Amino acid sequence: MRVKFWGVRGSIASPGKDTMIFGGNTSCIEMEDDDGNVFVFDAGTGIRALGMDLAKRKVNTINLFITHTHWDHIQGFPFFTPAYIPGNTINIFGPIHFEKTLQKIMDLQMDYAYFPISMQQLNAKINYRDLKEASLKIGNTEIITKYSNHPVTGLCYKVISNGKTIVYSGDTEPYYNVLSAEKKPDGSSVMDDFAEAAEDENIDDIVAERNAHHQAFCKSDLLIHDAQYTEEEYKKFRGWGHSPMVEVIKMAEGAGVKQLVLNHHDPVRTDQELLEIEPQLKKAYPNLDLFFSREGMEIKL
Ligand SMILES: [Zn+2]
Ligand SMILES: [Zn+2]
Repeated sequence: MRVKFWGVRGSIASPGKDTMIFGGNTSCIEMEDDDGNVFVFDAGTGIRALGMDLAKRKVNTINLFITHTHWDHIQGFPFFTPAYIPGNTINIFGPIHFEKTLQKIMDLQMDYAYFPISMQQLNAKINYRDLKEASLKIGNTEIITKYSNHPVTGLCYKVISNGKTIVYSGDTEPYYNVLSAEKKPDGSSVMDDFAEAAEDENIDDIVAERNAHHQAFCKSDLLIHDAQYTEEEYKKFRGWGHSPMVEVIKMAEGAGVKQLVLNHHDPVRTDQELLEIEPQLKKAYPNLDLFFSREGMEIKL
């Protein structure tokens, strides 16, 4: 299995002198199994360069897995060269939405108000599959999905191939008890409005059970996980659907992860900050092989 990072930035592309080392393109990861099957995870702006590379390599069947349809995970698709090549097949998988199909959502971003070429004008054959929690097989590679905790339906993907397991979390946040945690501006708790529901002690059990389920899912040789925030930042952004770095590391350690890649860097995070934080985390958690994702980085398993 070969894994290559084409886009590691969260939320919005952030090119410039402060992101030249880790990269400014949004989410896109390529995986190629030992039989040459190509899997692409997310279609952020990083997919543009990947598309040119795939065209050069004459890869004509591509399996694209979307974790969720926020802009930073689909925005590069209109610039994906293989979609314009006749004879190519692109299988797009993504989480089910109850109000629109995955195809409709992908079509919408190529509406003429936003983009000059419509989805119908693309020359490749494009197939769609809306996924719930499921397991599917492509060649000898198995892909298993689990819902993420994000403010839209999202999926985490587990890829099992030739005895190796890779998990890509997409955007996700630890589960927490919303009723007891949220404070209103006057200092009172949201809990006051839902006193009866909040008294239900089962909520904490459900939260713990969901986090344990996520941790069990993350057990892998390589875990690529959302770690957009520092602990300090996370206090301000809880509920935005992203994880704090240290919590991800502790979760991964507990899961027995062999290698942890902290991904989906905040758009305002500079190279300098990432270069400072990375060794601090390595030093604090020496038992886990962990590092930040970088655009262009390749891992062989
Ligand atoms: Zn994102
Ligand atoms: Zn998102």
